[in-house]
This record gives sequence, structure tokens and C-alpha cells, in this order.
Amino acid sequence: MKKHNFSAGPSILPEFTIKNTAEAVLNFAGTGLSVMEVSHRDKEFMAVMDQARNLVKELLDVPAGYEVLFLGGGASLQFCMVPFNLMNKKAAYLNTGTWASKALKEAKFFGEAVEVASSKDENFSYIPKGYSIPSDADYFHITTNNTIFGTEIRKDLDVNIPLVADMSSDIFSRPVDVSKYALIYGGAQKNLAPAGVTFVIVKKDILGKVDRAIPSMLDYRIHIDNDSMYNTPPVLPVYAALQTLIWLKDQGGMKEMEKRNIKKADILYAEIDRNKLFRSTVKNIEDCSIMNICFVMNDEYKELEKPFSEFAASKGMVGLKGHRSVGGFRASVYNAMPIESVQALVDTMKEFERLH
Ligand SMILES: *Cc1c(COP(=O)(O)O)cnc(C)c1O
Repeated sequence: MKKHNFSAGPSILPEFTIKNTAEAVLNFAGTGLSVMEVSHRDKEFMAVMDQARNLVKELLDVPAGYEVLFLGGGASLQFCMVPFNLMNKKAAYLNTGTWASKALKEAKFFGEAVEVASSKDENFSYIPKGYSIPSDADYFHITTNNTIFGTEIRKDLDVNIPLVADMSSDIFSRPVDVSKYALIYGGAQKNLAPAGVTFVIVKKDILGKVDRAIPSMLDYRIHIDNDSMYNTPPVLPVYAALQTLIWLKDQGGMKEMEKRNIKKADILYAEIDRNKLFRSTVKNIEDCSIMNICFVMNDEYKELEKPFSEFAASKGMVGLKGHRSVGGFRASVYNAMPIESVQALVDTMKEFERLH
């Protein structure tokens, strides 16, 4: 039976990525060696790193003055690297979920981290609006897609101080106006590659402004000067990331991905809306994520949660369980998720409704 992988992360990757990576594990670029056993400084791997960097720039139309890095440590290490490199005394954070809260927590090690607004009062079921950002803060940090709660800031904000964004779970899902950001980062394991590599897009002139000393491995400038090869990069995840980037370009780039992602999300939200058994957990339509779609059983059907899980599993649906802080279900419909799988989920929901 075909498996439909709705996991939140690590998560579905294009077959193209998995097949090409599997091949390179056996024989990398005709070297007769595995990509896992060659030097990262061999010309074949240097070409992989170069190509990956250039494709990120091409796909997102990254303006001059920005650098693309592939690092280790996950998005969670960026929670600390960002304030380490950018915060002198004060930074502003928008608290829209678990990951945003964790980013804020790390920033507090470095100075005054101001929470400008939070949606914690309603279990992060909406994106706060109408807040004001202190103009003396060094940057404003947002999480564009809240993987756990299914909310998303899907437009590039205009703010009067440098904007920093955790885009772990919605990078490459839509065109992004990179010029509006000072720094974008994310773990690759949601929408790009297997776990182990972290992408960073950073505007160079934002760096070098803090007074503190920065350990080498945590200093963006060191990684820029060394083309992401200051230490051994995660070669296999970088190779896989390159395959996804090539695939994204072949699919037609960011505009096309956005079109497909909106279509997939629309189909699923429409069914959640229509189906008497389910409801969305997000308060406002404009805050609904097109990557992670969270829904629960309506109160009068609460006891059907487990039976629906089992029914969906019997149809080959994997990874639908909602995060424990929300409950219910979460369908992650990242770039690699075909519309057929979303349709299969919708059909499953319809069939289950008919049976009850
Ligand atoms: C998964 C996730 C993280 C954590 O990423 P790691 O690479 O595991 O550190 C951070 N932010 C968001 C939005 C995520 O979805």
C-alpha cells in the first residue's frame, strides 16, 4: 500500500532527493567512492557546496550583500547564535509558539529580550497583530511558520529594525523578499533535507556590531570566510539538500511551489470546514499555515479520535498525530507532498464521516 507521509519533521522529501542521495551513498559523482567517505575538500564535494549555495540564492532571488551558509546544530543552535552575533543590549521577539518561546529563552542569556506580543493566552492559535516594536532593539525575531500550532506569517513584514526569521518549516514554500530580512535560518529537516544541516541567509553588514567576543564556531563571519567549511560540514545532508534544490528549480521555482502549496492547503481546509466531525484549531483564516494543518474532532465526536487515527492508518496515512500541546491531528503538507496524498486524506475524512 502507498504510504502518505504527513510527518512534521523529519518529514517527506522528494523521491528525486532520496534516490539521488542513495546513489551517491554508493557512488558519488563517478568517484567510485561513497559521498560519506570522501574529503569535504575534494573538488567534487566543493562543487556540491557551491552549487547548493548558488541555488538557494537563485531560487530565493537573494540580493547582493547576503551570504548563504550550511551549518550544524539545527535551528535550536541558531536561537543562541542570533543573539550572540546580533544583540548588543536589547532585542524584540514575537512569541507565536513553542519554537518562538525557545528562541526568546536563549536570547535572554545575552541581554534584554523583549516579548512584544504573545498568543500563548489562547494556546498559540493565532498570530498577534498590532504590537509595537521598540525602535532601540537590535533586531526583531519572528517564527514565520509555527510547525506545532499550524499558524503562519505568510507575508514579509515591513519593520523599522533588522528582521530575523526562523523559517525552519516554510522555507522554499513561497517566494520570499529576502531584502526585508537581516537573517533567515532554519533546520533543513522539514522542507529541504534530512536532519543534520541548518541553512542561514545573512546580510553581511549586520555582522560585527556587537561588543562581546564570539567563539569561532558561533561566529557567522568565521563561517562566511570559510565558505561553510570552517569545520567538516554535514556532507550527506548537504548533498541531499542540493538534490531538493535542483528538484525545486525543475518544478518551476518558488512561484510554482506556492501555487501548489496553496492549492493543497485549500483542499484540506475546505474539507475540515465542511466535515461535521472536524474543526481547525487556528482562529483566523489568514493565520492558517499552508505547511502544517492542525485539526481536532468536534467536541461531540471526541470519542472518534482514536478510531479515526486507526482508520487513517489503515489507508496508509502516516504521521498525522497532532503535537501533544495541541492534540488531535496535524497534516504536514510540505513541498514534497503530492496533491494526490492530500486528496487521499480528504477522501479518508469523507469516508469516515459517512461511517459515523
Ligand atoms: C523543528 C523546528 C525547530 C527546531 O529545529 P532543530 O533543527 O531540531 O533545532 C525550530 N523552529 C521551527 C519553526 C521548527 O519547526
